[in-house]
Amino acid sequence: MLNLVLFGPPGAGKGTQSAKIIERYQLIHISTGDLFRKHLSEGTELGKLARKYMDEGNLVPDEVVIGMVDDKISTTTGARGFIFDGFPRTVHQAESLDALLAKKEKTISGMIMLEVPNDELVTRLLKRGETSGRADDQDESKIQNRLNVYNEETLPVADYYQQQGKLAKVHGVGEIDTIFNDLSAQIDKLA
Ligand code: AMP
Repeated sequence: MLNLVLFGPPGAGKGTQSAKIIERYQLIHISTGDLFRKHLSEGTELGKLARKYMDEGNLVPDEVVIGMVDDKISTTTGARGFIFDGFPRTVHQAESLDALLAKKEKTISGMIMLEVPNDELVTRLLKRGETSGRADDQDESKIQNRLNVYNEETLPVADYYQQQGKLAKVHGVGEIDTIFNDLSAQIDKLA
């Protein structure tokens, strides 16, 4: 089983590259941002709870996120593997994911980090905001908050996987297909 974490700041291209990766490697995509947005559009209690955090660009509490991921993993059968996108975002989430997978005799194969400079991220997110309808992409101060949250709360997750010898880095600026080839080269080392 190939279980990947695709890591990187908001706007790094995780969603775009995940779509290509799941097609080539036949993995199940678990994007916690997408799952929350689905809850939001369906008006569930979970969606209502998540909204106030998402609108400000803050993290939804760990236990809420972990419960949602546990549910998704547990209800998926016959998967060749998972690609986690936008999760884990705190060290506590990473530890919980390890524990959750261990119970199912699974483990994370590797984490790949997409590296993109800050000014490029802001440009990309504002551009996405013109069409995505996402409130958190339309306001520069919210974007800045998301980048600060990433640097303070999420970046330590990269150290967590590096300590386990599971971290690889890929330059995330350039042609989408070139970046995908670089990602695939890293994934092929794990498979
Ligand atoms: P994303 O689409 O990954 O940028 O996520 C959008 C928003 O959903 C984030 O700004 C958070 O408010 C929330 N979110 C998504 N994934 C997580 C996570 N793993 N932990 C906490 N909050 C999350």
